[in-house]
Amino acid sequence: MPRHFECIVDGCDAVIEADTDDAIVEQAQAHARENHPDLEMDDEMERRIRSEITTI
Ligand SMILES: [Zn+2]
Repeated sequence: MPRHFECIVDGCDAVIEADTDDAIVEQAQAHARENHPDLEMDDEMERRIRSEITTI
């Protein structure tokens, strides 16, 4: 089942889709590294990302 994630940063409308939660997290981290270098990618952020993932 495809997963769907919308960037949690205000004003950023990036959307990530992948087949697994892990793939979403990986792509979200890569997206954040490129677009939100101020964002700290710690365990807390990973939990936030995972909590925002929806199944479509
Ligand atoms: Zn973003």
